[in-house]
Amino acid sequence: MLLDTIPDLEMTGRQRSPVGGEVPSPINPPSGCSFHPRCPFANDRCKSERPKALPIEGGTVACHAIEEGRLPIEDRTYALNT
Ligand code: SF4
Repeated sequence: MLLDTIPDLEMTGRQRSPVGGEVPSPINPPSGCSFHPRCPFANDRCKSERPKALPIEGGTVACHAIEEGRLPIEDRTYALNT
């Protein structure tokens, strides 16, 4: 979802889905993963524990859903190539 917000420099006209919710206050960020109030994949762990950066092929990711296998890493490849 976040990768989908990367500007489309080639102007392909690809449809995008806006991220819902409000941007959190940087003065008082949410507990756990700072993105959890806006993330459709958040669970209780996301609300209390900040995810650690994990190495994946081609980069790093800090996401409990990826770590727990609730989201496939293949979605990242899809987002970057569409
Ligand atoms: S850790 Fe991952 S699944 Fe959990 S709120 Fe953050 S981005 Fe969403």
